[in-house]
Amino acid sequence: MLDPASILIVTVLSGIMSMAVLGSLRPAAIPGIGYWIRGNALAIVGLILFALQRSTPLYLSVMVANGVFSIAVLQMLQGCRQFFGRKPVEFAEYVCWAAMMLGFLCWTYVVTDINARIASSSFFHAYVYASVAWITYKGHIPGRPKYSYHFVTAAASIGALGHMSRGLIYGLGLVHQTTLLQANVVNIAFLGLGILALPSLSIGMVMLAHDRMAERLERWANIDELTGALTRRAFLARAEARIRQVLANGTRLSIAIIDIDHFKAINDEYGHACGDEVLAHFGRVVAANIRSSDIFGRLGGEEFAVLYPSTGRGDAVEQLDRLRATIAAAGCRLADGELLVYTFSAGADEYRRDETLAHLMARADAALYAAKARGRNRVMAG
Ligand code: GH3
Ligand code: MG
Ligand code: MG
Repeated sequence: MLDPASILIVTVLSGIMSMAVLGSLRPAAIPGIGYWIRGNALAIVGLILFALQRSTPLYLSVMVANGVFSIAVLQMLQGCRQFFGRKPVEFAEYVCWAAMMLGFLCWTYVVTDINARIASSSFFHAYVYASVAWITYKGHIPGRPKYSYHFVTAAASIGALGHMSRGLIYGLGLVHQTTLLQANVVNIAFLGLGILALPSLSIGMVMLAHDRMAERLERWANIDELTGALTRRAFLARAEARIRQVLANGTRLSIAIIDIDHFKAINDEYGHACGDEVLAHFGRVVAANIRSSDIFGRLGGEEFAVLYPSTGRGDAVEQLDRLRATIAAAGCRLADGELLVYTFSAGADEYRRDETLAHLMARADAALYAAKARGRNRVMAG
């Protein structure tokens, strides 16, 4: 039969590997990583002390080992909270931990009761794992692949169920045990399940960290940092995809090309930093005034495009003119408090069946140049 001590040693080794992998992700400054590394380090200490139970004094192999191991899983939960932008530390959990340790003191030195010790620590672990499962389940960001979230939720749920049943079985006295490392079937099954839940969780955390890094890179590649608009490449890719949909289902689609008026003069008069503030302001106002289905991109410099799905040319011009009036009336409040009033010109046109995106954009661009030629601060249809 499997020796409980060897299960513990295998878990120690896997904890060391988890630390190495998590350590390699540290430079990426993923929230929670510090907690996860500390959690694994503490778990290794706790597990070694458990494994040495036959040769070390009780205060080390029972009190310190359980105390450290419970804090280790708590650190995993705290890392999870930090990862999902929550407050990591809950004071009440440390109060519960202290109460559990007080129980351990009584059940070790006053009346020896191994069942009570196993039950209380199992319930504590079950709570921690269930919290990790819940937070991860709720933390999935729409649009991100679900695999890593499901993996952590499943690993933590299995850990929670395992610990909960272990707590009940020992708490109700259905199994009696004299030492932690006793080689009975129930003990080995629960030790295996309970202890291996931690490395599974660490693997899951690494997956979550990777997903967060991938999300960052995608955001950097697709979103223009200054204006919050899609980058040119991302805009064109989404616009092409929309056109394919239009070809498939025959709906209408319009596009607008927008250019801020006399932007060079704004830069020259107020400085490049104020020009940037204007671009950021423009990005915010447009984002607040378009529908969630509209696609907004920065083509370069002070030139932008908006794609209006299911919209005819007249409606697109109407929406753009409302946006033009909003911006011309509001102006941009600069960091130094000064109000800088600026305007834009735009050209809009509707997609004609079987033409390319480039054709459509060229017609909208021609309309934009007509708007500029007519004196700027206006929207023209192609
Ligand atoms: P028009 O009304 O005809 O569009 O004139 P304009 O001055 O807006 O157009 P022009 O193309 O002459 O100038 C655009 C300016 O935008 C020049 C460039 O330095 C500036 N610009 C491009 N990108 C940025 C940026 O990211 N930040 C800032 N502050 N300026 C930028
Ligand atoms: Mg311009
Ligand atoms: Mg321009």
